[in-house]
Amino acid sequence: MHFKDVVGHIKVKELLINSYQNDRTAHAQIFLGKEGNGALAMALAYAQYLLCEQPLAKDSCGNCNACKKGNKQVHPDIHFSYPTVGSKKISTDFITDWRSMILANPYLSINQWLERIEADNKQGNITAGECLSIVQRLSYKASEGRYRIMILWLPEFLGKEGNRLLKLIEEPRPNTIFILVSEQADKILNTILSRCQLINFARLDDDEIAQYLSSQFSLSAEHSQNIAYLSEGNINKAQHLMNEQSNNNSKLFIEWLRVCYRGQPKAMVDWVEGMITGKHKSKDFFAKTGRKDQVHFLKYALFFLREFMTLQQGHDKIRLQDKAFETAHNMLKVLHTDAIIEMMQLFDEMSFHIERNANPKILFLDASIKMHHIIRKKSISIA
Ligand SMILES: [Zn+2]
Repeated sequence: MHFKDVVGHIKVKELLINSYQNDRTAHAQIFLGKEGNGALAMALAYAQYLLCEQPLAKDSCGNCNACKKGNKQVHPDIHFSYPTVGSKKISTDFITDWRSMILANPYLSINQWLERIEADNKQGNITAGECLSIVQRLSYKASEGRYRIMILWLPEFLGKEGNRLLKLIEEPRPNTIFILVSEQADKILNTILSRCQLINFARLDDDEIAQYLSSQFSLSAEHSQNIAYLSEGNINKAQHLMNEQSNNNSKLFIEWLRVCYRGQPKAMVDWVEGMITGKHKSKDFFAKTGRKDQVHFLKYALFFLREFMTLQQGHDKIRLQDKAFETAHNMLKVLHTDAIIEMMQLFDEMSFHIERNANPKILFLDASIKMHHIIRKKSISIA
């Protein structure tokens, strides 16, 4: 992970880089920030920067051996500690899960983590055994880098066991860096808090989140802004909202295909009514949609069709998930490429008209009838 991949927090990056360049790196630091605001991502980028063999002025190089290992989260001098479940368990028992999780999402929440390790509603904990393991892991010499680094995620789970770490924090072995990544300072033992340098992570701006969403996930500027506004500075929440919307659209679109394929007028009217008002008789999955949502829905529909065409070409690696993937597979037997192209043109035209204030009920009902004809006329079983 590089500093450039961490959203926002420009001041914190400067502070960390300057202290390193002036040889004033604190050996025990607390990165304090709310869930999803990037304190853990920053700890990962910082650890990689400290171990980089040829650091650049503002970031790790990305090319040296240390960076290559850092980017896969397998550098032997970067150690991790985090809450686990089971009184006898320690972090290293879950290292494979941990690595894949932080590689996929360094903005993860404690609930996502506990779900991943199948905690079944049990409380997470950093145990006495884990504290011993931390002391032990930091007693070895650095194997490759100039530092041994311990990233301890959520020290608020330490309880009084944390006192076992005091000596390590107070009289660190040479070249040992302890980074505690916390969401709630008031739950950290005072004895620990008072011995660490505290770095506060401010709430991320909506603009910073919006920019991240549009560059990472190719969302439109407007869509990114909407999600950023709802996510309250939490990147994790922003990603969740994005997935939820796309799930909703996926369900809605699959249902629409089914209704259009059958071509029963009443079912079409019901679907359109449900789509516009959110008051669908039998389904509860969609909320009332405004014009913007209708445009997003059509964008999803286009995305689905593009992925479907990739599948038709014989590529199995497509980005549709679960039910949508299953539906696409079933459609292979039914839909011809010509039909897909006609539908794409139809959705393009619809977006154009929705943005120009066309009546959505008339538009979607008209489109449903056209869809029925396209599917039937161009379907493989008839052709
Ligand atoms: Zn490097």
